Amino acid sequence: MRKPKAIIVGGSIAGISCAKALILAGWDVVVIEKTRGPPIGNPTGAGIALNPLSQKMVKSWLHQPDLLHNITLPLTIGQNRAVDREKNICGTDEIIDVVGDLLVAADGSCSSVRQTFLPDSKLRYTGYCAWRGVFDFSENENSETIQGIRKAYPELGNGVHVDLGPGTHTGDSATMKVSSDMIKKMHQEAEKIWVPEFARVIKETKEPFLNLMYDCDPLTQIYWDNVVLIGDAAHPITPHCARSTNMAIADAAVLGKCLERWGPENLHSALEEHQSVRLPVTTKQVLHSRRVGQIKLGLPTPDREPFDPNTASPEDCEILKQRRLPFFDDVPSILE
Ligand SMILES: Cc1cc2nc3c(=O)[nH]c(=O)nc-3n(C[C@H](O)[C@H](O)[C@H](O)COP(=O)(O)OP(=O)(O)OC[C@H]3O[C@@H](n4cnc5c(N)ncnc54)[C@H](O)[C@@H]3O)c2cc1C
Repeated sequence: MRKPKAIIVGGSIAGISCAKALILAGWDVVVIEKTRGPPIGNPTGAGIALNPLSQKMVKSWLHQPDLLHNITLPLTIGQNRAVDREKNICGTDEIIDVVGDLLVAADGSCSSVRQTFLPDSKLRYTGYCAWRGVFDFSENENSETIQGIRKAYPELGNGVHVDLGPGTHTGDSATMKVSSDMIKKMHQEAEKIWVPEFARVIKETKEPFLNLMYDCDPLTQIYWDNVVLIGDAAHPITPHCARSTNMAIADAAVLGKCLERWGPENLHSALEEHQSVRLPVTTKQVLHSRRVGQIKLGLPTPDREPFDPNTASPEDCEILKQRRLPFFDDVPSILE
């Protein structure tokens, strides 16, 4: 019998995870990625926080599961601290037709597949942006800057650290090029806001860039006939709860299991089940992450005064904890 075939658009975390999950479910896959090569530049970019379910899924897709442990660190600390201080995209003219039974849209937060099926769904600008950069100290372990930052942040390297201060944010997004004047102004503000050790690291970070933060109001539908959205294409989310990668992996794993359970002849039922498992959870996570972002930035929310990290009660701080995130430890029963 002919194997069913899925066309996966997007070869990042959601697309590759989905390819693995669908192959295990007995499908053929073709992954179409528009970027021609891996990213160039410093390889030590983003840190990805994988929760227990994501680790379990990724390990089940690896020939050598231990590899995951060998290249990662346990995330033992989730620290929020108050600060009290006054491309490589190449086009081609060639058009190739690829025929399949299912189209998986794993094409990220600006998904063109989502745009086609939901033309009215728009990304929502959160009202703030974030400076980002990679500080490479591999040749410079003992510099004054590194010694300073290690002293100021003794837990550095053991987890996620967020300093909360007025007009600040660390942390999805459209990336924007910046002028040298913008960088200069950012450096001046960093000196006013952050501890000196951190301000120094910021000043020594080469080529910082700016991310405008977007998310999207939760969708009410993530599949049509033989098309399904997964990953950021299905639920663009702000970065405050380090959820997006975990959500992409869980989407892929659940989709694989639903396709396996229902078989290719019952595609509609499989996609319906996938949606019924994933949509309620991802909806809550997107809205929760939005709320945590507003709180961390001291923005007003409909039901509370702006959060002030210097005066907040321990109860107020609870919502900022990673483990307080709805569904953090939940494993969908289809994956058990
Ligand atoms: C600057 C930045 C920093 C981040 N830092 C972190 C972090 O530290 N930790 C973390 O967990 N998460 C982080 N995130 C979020 C995380 O990167 C995303 O949530 C995650 O990558 C989503 O995975 P995805 O596969 O759904 O989408 P994406 O990673 O966006 O991948 C979409 C893929 O589809 C391809 N594509 C798009 N359109 C087409 C098309 N028409 N045809 C073919 N291919 C197409 C794109 O080239 C891309 O490879 C960050 C995001 C940004 C923007």
